[in-house]
Amino acid sequence: MMNSTLRELSCADDYDPNSMPVDKAREFIGKVLSPITDTERIHIRAALGRVVAEDIVSPIDVPGHDNSAMDGWAYRHADLAPGAVTTVMRRVGTSYAGKPYLGVVARCECVRIFTGAVMPEGCDTVAMQERVTVDGDKVHIPNDLKAGQNRRFRGEDLKTGAVAIRKGTLFTPAHLGLAASLGIGEIKVYRKLRVALFSTGDELKSIGSNLGVGEIYDSNRYTIYGMLTRAGCEPIDLGNFIDSPEEIRGAFQRAAACADVVVTSGGVSVGEADFIKQMLNELGEVLFWKIAMKPGRPMAYGKIQNAHFFGLPGNPVAVMVTFYQFVRSALATLQGRTDYALPPYVKAKLANNVKKLPGRTEFQRGVLTMGANGYEVRTTGDQGSGILSSMTQANCFVVLGTDVGGVEAGTVVDVQMFEGVM
Ligand code: AMP
Ligand code: MG
Repeated sequence: MMNSTLRELSCADDYDPNSMPVDKAREFIGKVLSPITDTERIHIRAALGRVVAEDIVSPIDVPGHDNSAMDGWAYRHADLAPGAVTTVMRRVGTSYAGKPYLGVVARCECVRIFTGAVMPEGCDTVAMQERVTVDGDKVHIPNDLKAGQNRRFRGEDLKTGAVAIRKGTLFTPAHLGLAASLGIGEIKVYRKLRVALFSTGDELKSIGSNLGVGEIYDSNRYTIYGMLTRAGCEPIDLGNFIDSPEEIRGAFQRAAACADVVVTSGGVSVGEADFIKQMLNELGEVLFWKIAMKPGRPMAYGKIQNAHFFGLPGNPVAVMVTFYQFVRSALATLQGRTDYALPPYVKAKLANNVKKLPGRTEFQRGVLTMGANGYEVRTTGDQGSGILSSMTQANCFVVLGTDVGGVEAGTVVDVQMFEGVM
């Protein structure tokens, strides 16, 4: 059951499963993803963190009327006395936010106005109150304001019929407010992506049980659960399984039957991959890659029945790095997002020496801070791919390119923030 796109892509001249550059792997995965199409209509509050499934068109002008940007005095600019420093105008009323002045303003008349209040008919400019002196109903307006100053125009935020929120947008607090400003209470979103996850390894125990010699707690299922939840997916935790073909076959079948995506950890390294490879070839089409990155070298990607499959390495830091670099953006595409981009690189000065060998892209854990002369980054000490505490201390990756060797303190390096991803 060979997926034709996968087959074509894997036959390309520059395709080398034993040394896949990070960008190439990401591009390859991107080509075989198609977004989900199921949608649901929900209240805008429930839509926070979901992906908008239709263009949202503004049914009204926002704001609905020209209004004042200041507390002050509204007047007609053309009435200013030529050559004078101030012009005396007569107060005829007040316009409050929500309670407009309904009269018509004649020549050299003005209206007391508050922020957000409708501009009275005939007025085009507002003088802020600090610039005005009032003497009974005589108001001295400064002559140096430009026509139209301190006036907000009808429809300047959104015009009737304009697309306010594009299909494929992640719905954030700003979108929540924008939808409310249009009077829209319900929107159409894509259904949540269902992602099944499980861990493999004879040494793994679940929290709540006691550890025997050589056993460890299964932490990957928890980090993956957390990252999937943060990414707006519905995680389906299937547990952990020993390295037995029967157990793992059953787990893959259950996972593919209930989910859009399957994410596993462990079992993809050279020693373990063989039986998994064989089994997955029965169930779908899966490619095993050695990615030219550290941590995170072995990884599998493919389709099991209709589900996309990401086989992440077992090492806890490698799990997080590969999720960040590959799975996160793939999920965004599958969720229907058109606005997703990995956090851009930021330049920062290294505060310590860093060891590295050329040949792979390294994602070292760092702490980015703002120093007196711009961004500084220090690495979090031991960079072993099993040291999960390094992830809890860090707020960014220090990204060191393939050809780079050791880097000295003071060098400017690329940094990629966790925020928004982890
Ligand atoms: P593997 O890729 O299965 O060879 O695992 C590589 C390393 O990661 C080994 O030290 C495993 O014990 C560890 N490891 C694998 N799976 C998990 C897990 N679910 N939680 C914590 N550590 C794991
Ligand atoms: Mg293992």
